[in-house]
Amino acid sequence: MRVLITGAAGFIASHLSERFLADGHTVVGMDNLITGNLRNIAHLTDHPRFTFKRHDVSHYIHVDGTVDAVLHFASPASPIDYLKIPIQTLKVGSLGTHNALGLALAKGARFLLASTSEVYGDPLVHPQPETYFGNVDPIGVRGCYDEAKRFAEAMTMAYHRAHNLQTRIVRIFNTYGPRMRLDDGRVVPNFVRQALKGEPLTVYGDGKQTRSFQYVDDLVEGIVRLLQSDFAEPINIGTQFEMNMIEFAEIINELTGNQAGIIFEESRISGDPQTRRPDTTRAKAILDWEPRVSVLEGLARTIAYFREVV
Ligand code: UDP
Repeated sequence: MRVLITGAAGFIASHLSERFLADGHTVVGMDNLITGNLRNIAHLTDHPRFTFKRHDVSHYIHVDGTVDAVLHFASPASPIDYLKIPIQTLKVGSLGTHNALGLALAKGARFLLASTSEVYGDPLVHPQPETYFGNVDPIGVRGCYDEAKRFAEAMTMAYHRAHNLQTRIVRIFNTYGPRMRLDDGRVVPNFVRQALKGEPLTVYGDGKQTRSFQYVDDLVEGIVRLLQSDFAEPINIGTQFEMNMIEFAEIINELTGNQAGIIFEESRISGDPQTRRPDTTRAKAILDWEPRVSVLEGLARTIAYFREVV
């Protein structure tokens, strides 16, 4: 297959590009480098089946030749990024998704949307099945991301229904691994950076809010299986391993030998979801997918990466 991956210089899509190349496919990576970084794909740029195009997919996307699949991963994804660039976040989720769908339709390609657990907002149903409609504040500071992704899902289903386009939607839960941006403000890079510097870990709020973290390789496997499936409804990909932020900070301190403990800080962004854990019954049933990498193993690999870059 010849695959277009938008957001290819970002954390997740760089791993995805690597995987598609390893599986023998040809990859066109596209990114405007607002939050992505060419360092993430520096090891791919000489690959004979990889090409990179710098382009903002909120504007018309032109790709020469055949395209068999479009994987739309371009978007800021960290809460501090949406605060800084809310309009670009809305544009890439709406106009960018429309352009990526239009390209898929024109090329007769399959389309896969990177959606998010944020479509569930601050959920009132726990764990979250795909049938839950969510609890999102459209005008809150997270609204630009959450609503852009909800719009992107609606647009994807509209292309599926109106044009019979082969579409897939993955709802990605918290994911970590090498190539996360050290300063992206999210909990894994923050905690690991602080721990490696011997500083106290900044736990926001009361630290009772929960997340369940998956290692990036497991997510990539889920995405590959979803693309190969014929299932057009959304599928959650994430782990059942739910922790609150105090417990998570303690694990990071233990793994890094950091003695500086934790400190509590006011959450920087309002509307912090209090709980989050996917119901992954559908992923298991439809894709025969389950996470394989334990949190301890995944964190060990991630900490090793951050040791190199801190
Ligand atoms: N968080 C924290 N300390 C930090 C960064 C984040 O306690 O230095 C918390 C944050 O308030 C949230 C959780 O960690 O409850 C996950 O935040 P992240 O930004 O990684 O992703 P989110 O799941 O909120 O999109």
